[in-house]
Amino acid sequence: MSKKYVYSFSEGDGRNKHLLGGKGANLCEMTQIGLNVPPGFVITTEACLEYLDRKELPSGLLEEVGEHIRRLEEKTGKRFGGEDNPLLVSVRSGSALSMPGMMDTILNLGLNRETLRGLIRLTGNERFAYDAYRRFIQLFGKIALGVPDHLFDEQFEDVKRAAGVKADIGLNAGHLKEISERFLRVVEKETGKPFPENVFTQLEIAIKAVFNSWMGKRAVDYRREFNITPDMANGTAVNVVTMVFGNLGDDSATGVGFTRNPGTGEKEMYGEYLVNAQGEDVVAGIRTPKSVAEMAKEMPDLYRQLVELRDKLENHYREVQDFEYTIEKGVLYCLQTRNGKMNAQAMVRTSVDMFAEGLISKERALLRVDPSHLEQLLHPRLDPRHTEKPVAQGLPASPGAASGRCVFDADQAELMGRAGEKVILVREETKPEDIHGFFAAQGILTSRGGKTSHAAVVARGMGKACVAGAEGIQVDSRSRLARVGDITLREGDLITIDGSTGNVYLGEIPTIPPKFSEELETLLSWADEMARLKVFANVDTPEGAVVAMGYGAMGIGLCRTERMFNAGDRLPVVVDMIMARDAAERQAALDKLLPMQRRDFEEIFRIVAPRSVTVRLLDPPMHEFLPSEHQLLDEIEGLKAYRLAVKGRSAALTSLGLSPVPDQDLSEDLVNSVIAKKEQMLRKVRELHEVNPMLGHRGVRVAITYPGIYEMQIRAILEAMAACMKDGVHAALEIMVPQVITAQELKRVKVSVDEVRQEIESRFGFELPFKFGTMVETVRACMRSRELAKIVDFFSFGTNDLTQAVFSFSREDAENKFLPLYTEYGILRDNPFEVLDVKGVGVLMQMTVDWGRDSNPDLKIGICGEQGGHPFSIRFCHDIGLDYVSCSPHRVPIARLAAAHAKLEAER
Ligand code: PEP
Ligand code: MG
Repeated sequence: MSKKYVYSFSEGDGRNKHLLGGKGANLCEMTQIGLNVPPGFVITTEACLEYLDRKELPSGLLEEVGEHIRRLEEKTGKRFGGEDNPLLVSVRSGSALSMPGMMDTILNLGLNRETLRGLIRLTGNERFAYDAYRRFIQLFGKIALGVPDHLFDEQFEDVKRAAGVKADIGLNAGHLKEISERFLRVVEKETGKPFPENVFTQLEIAIKAVFNSWMGKRAVDYRREFNITPDMANGTAVNVVTMVFGNLGDDSATGVGFTRNPGTGEKEMYGEYLVNAQGEDVVAGIRTPKSVAEMAKEMPDLYRQLVELRDKLENHYREVQDFEYTIEKGVLYCLQTRNGKMNAQAMVRTSVDMFAEGLISKERALLRVDPSHLEQLLHPRLDPRHTEKPVAQGLPASPGAASGRCVFDADQAELMGRAGEKVILVREETKPEDIHGFFAAQGILTSRGGKTSHAAVVARGMGKACVAGAEGIQVDSRSRLARVGDITLREGDLITIDGSTGNVYLGEIPTIPPKFSEELETLLSWADEMARLKVFANVDTPEGAVVAMGYGAMGIGLCRTERMFNAGDRLPVVVDMIMARDAAERQAALDKLLPMQRRDFEEIFRIVAPRSVTVRLLDPPMHEFLPSEHQLLDEIEGLKAYRLAVKGRSAALTSLGLSPVPDQDLSEDLVNSVIAKKEQMLRKVRELHEVNPMLGHRGVRVAITYPGIYEMQIRAILEAMAACMKDGVHAALEIMVPQVITAQELKRVKVSVDEVRQEIESRFGFELPFKFGTMVETVRACMRSRELAKIVDFFSFGTNDLTQAVFSFSREDAENKFLPLYTEYGILRDNPFEVLDVKGVGVLMQMTVDWGRDSNPDLKIGICGEQGGHPFSIRFCHDIGLDYVSCSPHRVPIARLAAAHAKLEAER
C-alpha cells in the first residue's frame, strides 16, 4: 500500500503533532471532540520533508489531495472550481511547535473569474466577493508567486486615495473590483504569466509554497533564535480548510481570543473581534478591533457561545488556549487553537489558578512555567514617583517598561542593538519579517493594531514591553520620523514606553525593581517543597544579602571576602599590609583590618541567620590590590615633572627679586617622599608580577606563605559568629578555602582554624559549631577528592576556575577574542562560563562527587560558579547528586524553579 500523506480532520490523530503539525493536530482533535470546525484535511510534515528533499511532491500526493477535496465537496455541498456554489479553502502552514506568523497562509483559494461570478450570485454580495478575490490575489501573488507585497499595497492605496476613502471598509464593490483587476495586472507583469485560473493548479502551487516557507529566512531565523531543533519540529504540515467568512455582513465577524488574559493571567474572556471582516484584519492590525467585552452587548447570543467554546477548550486541553474564530451569518466556527503564549506573570498566575480550579496538578503547575521566563518578572518598572506626562497612549500590549532610542525599521534596530544601543522599534504596525528587530529592541511601539496584533503577540512571547495601537502617533517610516501632536520624534531620540499602562513618554524615565506577586511566592514555595537541590546566593555585602533573602535564597553559598578588602576605607590598609617590610608592620595592618572584617561578617550573619553563610577566605593574588606597573610609572613621571616645574617657577620668581609662594605648591620634600613611596610600591608590584596570575600565587597558597592573613580572617569570622550567638542570633557558619590542590594545604589551614576557635570559645565560654570545607576549582582537587573529603564537611565546585582549568583558556581572553565565534560556528554549543560544560567539566564533577562521597558519605556538595544559576546546569547538578547550587541573587527565583523542574523531570 502506498504511503498515506493526507488525513481528514475527522481521522487524524490529535496527539501526533510531529506528523500533523500543532495546528493540524488540533484541528483534528477539535473536530473529534465536537467543536464546530470547518471541514478540512492535513497534509503531513513527512510530505513536506520529502518535497524539500527531492524538490518535487511525493508521488500520489496530488491524487490523495484530490480525493480529500472530493470528500469536502460532499460534506459541504460545494464544488471546488464550480460556478454555482464554489468551495473556497484556506491553505495554512503549521509545524509541531507553534511559530506565530513565521510561515505563510493563503486564504480564499479556489477563486477565479468563474467561481467569482458564482460567489457573487450565491451571496448576492458583490462587495464581499471582490473583497475576497483581491485578498486572494495579493496573498497568492506574494506567497506563492513571490510578487513583492508593496506593489499590491501601492495599487490599493492608489484606489483608496482616488476614491477619497480612509478605511478599507469605505471601499465599495466597484473599488474592490478595480483593485482586483489592478492586482491581476501586477501579477502578470511581475511573473510574465497570467494569474492561474485552474483551481487545482492554484492548490498545488500553494501547497509547495507553504512547504517552501519552512526553509524561508524568517522561519530559519526563528528556529535558530529559539533553539528549535529537528527533533522538536521538522517540516511544516499543510492544512486545507473550508473557508468560512466573517465578512458576509453585520451578522458576521472574526476574532481572536485567549481563554485567560495573557498579560496578567486573570481568568477573563480576553480578545478582540471585528464585525464584517476577515481574520487577517485582526492579526495584521489593519483595523483596530473591538474588545470582546463589547460583543457581550453587541451580539449577546454569540458571546454566550464564545464563553462556552472557551470553557470547552480549557476543560479539554487543561491549558490556556489562544484561539481564532469566525462568525459566518450568525454561526460560530472555531478555526484554530493552540497553547497560549503568555508573559511570565500570566504563566505564574494561571499555574496557581488552574491548580486551585482542579484543572492541573501541582507538578504540571510548576513544569509549565519556564524558569528562564521568570527573568521577565525581575525586570524594572517605571518609578511611580516620576512626574513625566505621557505624550501618547496606546494599548498596554505587553507589560514592563523600556527606554531606548527610536528606530523606524527592523534592520536599523538590529544594527544599533548590535552596537550596544538600547532601542525602541517604532512602527505603524509590525509584520513577521520584522522579527530580527524585535530581538534587538528593548520594546516595541506601534501606532496601529490591537492587543492581539502581530507586535503584541510576539512581544509578549519574548517578554518585551510593547505599546500597540498608539493612534496619536503618526509614524513615517520612510522619512524615519514620527509625529505626536506638534512634536517630531527622529531616529535616535530617546523615548520610554510602559507596556503595562500603554503610556509613551519622551526621554528616559527612571525605573525601580519589580515586586514579587503573591502567585509567584506561592509557586516558588511549591518549587522549594518539590526540589531536592537547595538554592543559595553568592553575596558579599549586607545589601546583597537583603536582596538575596528577599528572592528566597536559603542561605549564602559564597561570600567572597576580597570584595570587602576593596572597599574605599579598607584598600589603603590592605596596601599597607602588602607593602609591610617585616612581620611587625604586616601584623599592624592586619590588626587594623580585623575589626572592619568582623563588622562586615556580623552584619551579614545577622541578616541571613538562621540560614547559613559560607565565607570563603581570601582568594585573589595580592597584586590585584595594588595599582598596575603602568599606572605607577605614569604617576611617578607626573610627580617628577611637577617637581621640575615648581623648581623652575621658584628660580624665575627669585630672579625677579620675588620670593616663591610656598603654600601654593607642595614642598619639594613632600613630593620627594611621595615619589619614594611610589617607587617602593613599583618595586613591590614588579616583585609580585606573575606570568600567569590565574595560575599564580593566590588563594590558599598565600595562606602558606603569609599565614597571618587567613588567621586574621578566621578570627574576624569566628568573633562575629560568637557576638551573634551571644545575642541569641543563630549564625550558621561555613568556612571555605579556595584554590586547594592537596590535603596538606587544608590540614595547615585547619590547624589555624582550630587554634583560633579554641581561643575564642574559651573567651566566650560556649562552643562555636561551624562547617569547614573546600572549593573544588582545580583539576588536582578533583583528582584528590577522596583525600580532601576526609578532612572537610563540604565541597563547593568553583566552576568558574574549574572551567578555565579544564579548557586551558582564561575567561576574559576567551570571551573577548574567540569564544563568540566558537559558539557561532557551532564548535562549542554554549559559552561554558554561562552553561556548565557537562561533557568536560561535568565529567570531572561527577567523578569528584563519587570519590568524595566514597570516603565521606556525609559530604555536602554544591556549586558556586556562575553556571549554578542556569536551568540546564541545575538539571545536571541535580542528576549528579549535588545538595545545593549557589548563584547571583537575581537568578535565585529562576534557580528555585529550575531545581524543582530538575527533580520532576528526573523522576519522569
Ligand atoms: C569559581 O571559581 O567558580 C568561584 C566561584 O570563584 P571565583 O569566581 O571567585 O574565582
Ligand atoms: Mg574561583
